[in-house]
Amino acid sequence: MKITKNIVVTIHYTLTDDNSEVIDSSQGGEPLTYLHGHGGIIPGLEAELEGKMLDDAFKVSIQPDLAYGVIDKNLIFRINRSSFADSKNIKTGMQVRGQLTKEGPSMIFWVKEVNNEDIVLDGNHPLAGQTLHFDVKVSELRNATKEEIAHGHVHGPHGHHSH
Ligand SMILES: [Zn+2]
Repeated sequence: MKITKNIVVTIHYTLTDDNSEVIDSSQGGEPLTYLHGHGGIIPGLEAELEGKMLDDAFKVSIQPDLAYGVIDKNLIFRINRSSFADSKNIKTGMQVRGQLTKEGPSMIFWVKEVNNEDIVLDGNHPLAGQTLHFDVKVSELRNATKEEIAHGHVHGPHGHHSH
């Protein structure tokens, strides 16, 4: 069986950054299971998995535009501390929830910088702008059910949805 659209794929992986620091890994934990061809994982990794077979192992580096995107400067805001009710409790690396406009949807921002005057909030994905280095092994393959294909995601033991 080859990996192609509508195959349920399970992989073990280790993800490192440009400095070889491990960002995420399935080693010693649950492998990742997804429905191939439905955009369930980042585009660069999905493209690399196309045509692979059970037990295939490979390494691939994925540029930001095929991973979590390039950094959008319009999502980075420098805001005066006085605008925050609880600025004393805001620390670098924290996540805060906010809106870009009064009626806009609520979104997650990372606190990028805190100084005496300002707090810098970043609405980009934490991995935006980064080249991602994956070490992957295909550990399980099966055909998707009709229901999984209709939903566009995996059900069952390794799936994220139980409906
Ligand atoms: Zn479903």
